Amino acid sequence: MLETAILDGEADPPDAGAAAREGGAEPEEPPSPEVPPLLPDPHFPDAPEPLARFLSRHFPGATQREWNDWRWQIANRIADAETAARLWRLSDDERAALARPRATLPLAVTPYYARLVDPCDPAQPLRRTVLPATAEDLRAPGEADDPLAEDACSPVPGLVHRYPNRVLFLATGFCSTYCRYCTRSRQVGAACAATTRGGAAAGPEGLRRRWQACLDYIARTPQVADVLLSGGDPLTLPDAALDWLLTRLRAIRHVEIVRIGTKVPAVLPMRVTKHLARMLKKHHPLWMSLHFAHPRELTADTRQACAILADAGIPLGSQTVLLAGVNDTPQALGGLFQGLLSLRVRPYYLYQCDPISGSAHFRTPVARGVEILRALRGRLSGYAMPTFVIDAPGGGGKIPLAPEYTLGYSGDDLVLHNYAGGLYRYPDRAGAALAARPRTGGAA
Ligand code: SF4
Repeated sequence: MLETAILDGEADPPDAGAAAREGGAEPEEPPSPEVPPLLPDPHFPDAPEPLARFLSRHFPGATQREWNDWRWQIANRIADAETAARLWRLSDDERAALARPRATLPLAVTPYYARLVDPCDPAQPLRRTVLPATAEDLRAPGEADDPLAEDACSPVPGLVHRYPNRVLFLATGFCSTYCRYCTRSRQVGAACAATTRGGAAAGPEGLRRRWQACLDYIARTPQVADVLLSGGDPLTLPDAALDWLLTRLRAIRHVEIVRIGTKVPAVLPMRVTKHLARMLKKHHPLWMSLHFAHPRELTADTRQACAILADAGIPLGSQTVLLAGVNDTPQALGGLFQGLLSLRVRPYYLYQCDPISGSAHFRTPVARGVEILRALRGRLSGYAMPTFVIDAPGGGGKIPLAPEYTLGYSGDDLVLHNYAGGLYRYPDRAGAALAARPRTGGAA
């Protein structure tokens, strides 16, 4: 929101624009920022332990061919306390959290992602996103199981219709790896896995019936032009099931765009096969939102998965949740956003963590996200800068938050400061006149 304060009388800022308008002198160089670059090199670190050794220690007898099969990965997920204790030196808190009889969100980590998790350090960012903590049992003020009130906007089970022209289609409740901060933890995991397990050959009949009810709703609602397939993770569905669903969505004439939200390239990159890409390519225009949390997720396998999707002509955007102790620094997010660009993934949204029940240990002050974006501005390409949003509790939709760069008007000039703190003027006579006009229509 533009400040409308009149700054006349304050010390004049440098007028770089005026010099340029007069035609002779070059505009003043902005002051050079006294900050080192955030990112010496985008890098794609290998996992800490060579694959052959990791396999022989934790999955004896498994071959590299099996490792590269996404179904093997799903069948061999780390999903119980005993297996977790064999892979990782568990902290007391992790052990206690895993011993809870009925956690809302189960433990599930693909072997692929488990190899990226530090076996000894419970504070490692990736480890915090997938291993449970007892803090999940604490309910802080303002938290709710369904903070975005999605259930109240659900005309048929599995579909959320909040914005007039688009719907969220919850295609499955299954994910290969469960994120401890998941906004839909009430819906994904144990409660849904039994009926929507993606690894099954073609999906159970119950799931098909639910999909058909969603398709029927979309078909009879002509204002729906954009369908976001999410869940759960739609890319855990078999190719044939996903093809079936996309074909029927594409047959609805008023559906113009289909988007898929997925974390598969980060947690199960071997799922992105050329066969999958060929199938997806039939259903253009198709977009994808990829979920990433940390630059350590940008491995060579992930790079290859993104390349296959991008080569299939699918525009790739990323979504990241701002998480305390995981990625709440300019270095972590700057590394992630810059790395994503080099994978042909455009950083799209940075989310303030939703107030789901038991998530206080993940939430930062809202100002932290704004500060990080301010720190990154000017140091990263504009393409690498996502929009920071709060998804408004109660169902108000996404509300963008951005650092303020305008200071108000001085005479006919708008006064701004740049990423390095330098002050600049922009000639904006019409804007100054509008700002000086008395407001009408408000309360007396
Ligand atoms: S991948 Fe998405 S839906 Fe699945 S647990 Fe993570 S945040 Fe939730």
